[in-house]
Amino acid sequence: MTICMSALRSFPKLWNSSPYLGRGPRHSYTALFLTNCIWKPQRWFSLKTVSPQNAKARDLLTAKARCLRKAEERAHKHTPFESSHLFAAGAAKKRSQMNPQSKDRAPPPAKNTFQLPTRPLNSEEWDKLKEDFKGKASFEHWISSQMAHCHSSIDVAKSLLAWVAARNNGIVGYDILVKYLYLCVFHQQTSEVIDVYEIMKTRYKTLESGAYSLLIRGLRPSDRWREAFLLLEDMKKVMVPSKKNYDDCIQGALLHQDATTAWNLFEELLAHDVSPMLETLKAFFDFGRDRKDGHYSKKLLDLLLYLRNNQLYPGESFAHSIKAWFESVPGKRWKGQFTAVQKSGQCSACGTGLESIHLSADEYEFLKEKIMKDVIDGGDQYKKTTPQELKRFESFVKSCPPFDIVIDGLNVAKMFPRARESQVLLDVVSQLTKQNMQLLVLGRKHMLTQRSRWRKDEMEKIQKQASCFFADDISEDDPFLLYATLHSGNHCKFITKDLLRDHKACLADAKTQRLFFKWQRGHQLAIISRFPGSKITFQRILSYDTIVQTTGDSWHIPYDEDLVERSSYEVPTKWLCLHQQT
Ligand SMILES: [Zn+2]
Repeated sequence: MTICMSALRSFPKLWNSSPYLGRGPRHSYTALFLTNCIWKPQRWFSLKTVSPQNAKARDLLTAKARCLRKAEERAHKHTPFESSHLFAAGAAKKRSQMNPQSKDRAPPPAKNTFQLPTRPLNSEEWDKLKEDFKGKASFEHWISSQMAHCHSSIDVAKSLLAWVAARNNGIVGYDILVKYLYLCVFHQQTSEVIDVYEIMKTRYKTLESGAYSLLIRGLRPSDRWREAFLLLEDMKKVMVPSKKNYDDCIQGALLHQDATTAWNLFEELLAHDVSPMLETLKAFFDFGRDRKDGHYSKKLLDLLLYLRNNQLYPGESFAHSIKAWFESVPGKRWKGQFTAVQKSGQCSACGTGLESIHLSADEYEFLKEKIMKDVIDGGDQYKKTTPQELKRFESFVKSCPPFDIVIDGLNVAKMFPRARESQVLLDVVSQLTKQNMQLLVLGRKHMLTQRSRWRKDEMEKIQKQASCFFADDISEDDPFLLYATLHSGNHCKFITKDLLRDHKACLADAKTQRLFFKWQRGHQLAIISRFPGSKITFQRILSYDTIVQTTGDSWHIPYDEDLVERSSYEVPTKWLCLHQQT
C-alpha cells in the first residue's frame, strides 16, 4: 500500500507511454462519461440489492412512468381546477397529484449488484475482485465509474489507481484519472487536485470539457486559483464554457477578494449569451455585504434589474442574501420583510401598490403583431389550419363587434367529465351573457352533429346568446383563440384550460415570450367549479404583475420557496419587501 500512495506523486513519469496521450478533446469518451454519469448520477447503476418482489414493483413503476406524460396530459384535460391560482407556484404539481395515475414516479432501474470496497485493497484483493466481476465492460472502467458515483474515499481510489498502474507498466487511462480527479474535487482534497492537475498539464496538450470543469472547480479554493482562468481560456478555444465554469471562476475570484476580475468574468458570461446561475448572482450579494463601495452597490442593483428583465426569481437563500445586503448598506436604513401580496395588489408589509399586470398600449401592439406573425401564420399555416379556413375566420371576426370573452368551446365543455358537454358550455355561456358580455364560442363542426353529447336544443341556445365559429374538426383551436382575443383588444379575456405552452415556445425571442406570459396571466380566465344548474365560479385574475420591481425607495422581489416546486409557467407567491426607513 505504501507504494500505491507514493506512486501518485510520480505519475507523470509513470505514464509516459499512455496511448491516450496528446489526443484532442474530441477523441476522449470521458467527456461523454462526465456528461452522462457524473453530473447526472441517477442514470448510473444502483448498487442496492433488489429483491424479486421489489423488482416486480419497480417494473410496475417503470411502466407507470412511461404513461406519466400521457397521464399528466389527461389530468390537464379532465380534472377541474382546484382553488389555488392557475399560475401560482406549485399549482401544477397539486393538479397532477389529484390524478392518482401520475402519483408515483419510478426510481431508476437497478441493473447490477456489486459490493464496492470500503477500504484500500492490495493487488491480490483487486485481482480477486476483478475475477468475481461478471459484467461485459472493462472492470477497471466500470469500478472507477462506480466509485465516482458512490463517492468512495480517496484512499480506496488511490489503491485502485496503483493497482491499474502496476498492471499496465505504469499507465493509467485518461478516463480513470478523470474519475479520480472527480473524487478529489468532491472530497475537497485540494492538494490531490493540484497533483492531478500537474500530471495532466504535463501529459496532455488539451483536455476535454469534463476535466477542465473539474480542475477549475478544484482549483477554486487553492492558492493557484488564478490558473483556473487559464483553463477557462483553453476551454474557450473549442467551446463556450458553461455557466458552472463561470460560476466557479467568479466565486474563486470573490473568495480571494478580486471583485474586478469577478465582474469582468460576469460581463463576459453575459456577452456569450449564457444565462448565469442564480448562485453566481447570490455570491455577488454575499460578497457585497458591509462594503462601503457605491460602484459595487450600483452593480448589485443592476443585477436586480437583470432578474427583472429576464423574469427570473431568486430562491429562498438568495432572497435572504439580498435582504442582508440591503440592510448592511451603511447610512441607508433599509428594512427587509418576507411577505405576501394582497388581492388588491398591495404589499402586506408596507402597503405599496405593485405594478399592474396590464400591458401598456405599446407592449400590447408589439405582442399582437408578433403572435399574428409567429404563432398564427408561423410560415406554415397548413400545420394548424388551411389558409381558406383562416381567411374565413378572419372575415368572420372582422364582421363581429369586439368580444369581451373568447371561449374555447371544446376545452371548456370537457372540463367536467360527468356532465354533458353541451350542458356545461351552455351554463358558461348563459352565465356570462347575463353579465352583458360579448361572447365568442370557438367550436368544431362535430359539435353540431353528435347528438348524445352535444344536444341540438342546447347548441341552438348557445348560438342565440353568443357568436360561434365552428372550425374543421382537424384544425387546431388555439390559433383561432389567440387571434380572436388579440383582435378584440386589450380588454378581451379568454377561457381555456390549455396553458398554451406550445405557443409560447413558438415565439421567437425571450422578450416576446415574457410579454406573452404576462398577457396570458392577465387575460386567461380559469373555471374553478360548476354547480349543476348553472352557477360557475371563475378564478380571479391577479391584478398585479409578479416580477422584481422598484420605486426607488422600495424594492419588491418575488422569490421561490425551497419546498415549493414551481413549473416554468407559474409564478412565486412569496415576496421580499424592502423599504427605506425615513
Ligand atoms: Zn412592501
